[in-house]
Amino acid sequence: MKVKVRIAPSPTGFLHIGTAQSALYNWLFAHKNGGEFHLRIEDTDKERSTKEYEQSILDALEWLGLKWDGKVVRQSENTAKYREVLEQLLSEGKVFYCHHTKDELEAERQAQEGEKVPPQHVCNHKDSEKGTTPGGIIRLAVTRDADSTVSFEDEIRGHIEFKTSLLGDFSIAKSLDEPLYNFAVVVDDADMEITHVIRGEDHISNTPKQILIYEALGLAVPKFAHLPLILGSDKSKLSKRHGNTAAIGYKKDYLPEAVINFLGTLSHTFSKEIMTKKEMIEEFEFSKVHKSGAVFDVKKLNWINSQWVKNLDPAIFWKIMNVIPGFSLSDDDTTLITERLERLSDAQEFSYFWKEPEYDKELLKWKKADLDKSIETLTEVKKIIDDFDFEKGKDGLRKVLDEFSVKVGDKGLVYWPFRVALTGREKSPDPVDIAFVLGKEKTLERVEKAARLSS
Ligand SMILES: [Zn+2]
Repeated sequence: MKVKVRIAPSPTGFLHIGTAQSALYNWLFAHKNGGEFHLRIEDTDKERSTKEYEQSILDALEWLGLKWDGKVVRQSENTAKYREVLEQLLSEGKVFYCHHTKDELEAERQAQEGEKVPPQHVCNHKDSEKGTTPGGIIRLAVTRDADSTVSFEDEIRGHIEFKTSLLGDFSIAKSLDEPLYNFAVVVDDADMEITHVIRGEDHISNTPKQILIYEALGLAVPKFAHLPLILGSDKSKLSKRHGNTAAIGYKKDYLPEAVINFLGTLSHTFSKEIMTKKEMIEEFEFSKVHKSGAVFDVKKLNWINSQWVKNLDPAIFWKIMNVIPGFSLSDDDTTLITERLERLSDAQEFSYFWKEPEYDKELLKWKKADLDKSIETLTEVKKIIDDFDFEKGKDGLRKVLDEFSVKVGDKGLVYWPFRVALTGREKSPDPVDIAFVLGKEKTLERVEKAARLSS
């Protein structure tokens, strides 16, 4: 039997970073097993679903390189099917109409809360005439056998069992044309011939209900694998208050390969930290998926991104960067930036390569010296550069500046103001490297300007 998996996001928001991780694990499992990865848009919530969110979900998956097989399935296109299945189940007496009023159900719920028992409704209409009389919500007849259990072998967590009596005769549709979540999911998954349902552990409580619906329908139950959740720094499920949860929101700062690498290694043990998708396919196993949730560590993401940026083809790097149109450095010089970049937007920190730096003159002051002394040294540096033949190369200039440093008795006093003059920043690659990127003329211009600033 061909492996078929799916993700089923709702277009009521952007693709959540946790759903992106589920998508990745589904995708890896499908590719490992020569199967198919499908996308179903659960758009039955007409008030909150939008076409814009749907498009943004597709865009995010494409950006991450998680291409789905076949066409996008939309739940809203399947309404006739839900009605047909409900009518069939009603005729078989497996589901029934519950005519209890909202007030009656609410009173029951409150009483149960008072007794500290799980809320559930065991309905006495199921085997009476009322149960077959149209009207009211539609429930699955679950509790005919009070001692029965429902269980499954989770691919990640092992044996999981629930007492059906705790579920009550749960509702599956508000009416023939208004299916509820668990029922619609089962009808759709069965329709799409999904073999493995791989999703977040927040769905574990839905699984026994879905299995009972499969059984009522007389359909084969797929295998289930419940993934650990991604957690915020306080160990609760990652949500907006922890920061950005929209996968597409990471596009401006991170390479898709890095985000995939990060999400993949976050909850699955791989043989190394930097992994391509192709390598992940090889090693993916349910037994290597972690059981407990992992904290979303942005420092780790930054580090992984820096590794990917470092190995990026310079031509691709400049294509991604949105600096002065047409600006780029030679391949060797590009590494001055890519060796130091964690987030793509940090490239702006290197803007001195493509535009005049602006800074406060106080920054020119080396910590152990005063401003006058720093400028005095910088003026000497200017003379050294003026006299130096750039054809002789970086090491030659470094040597002359080092000799001068020995004379001054403080290396920082020579290099600090020089760095600031060229970059306007406290941190940068070696100023000699930068001088050779800028060229002699521009280097002299900036040093001279710095010296003028302070007078
Ligand atoms: Zn009832």
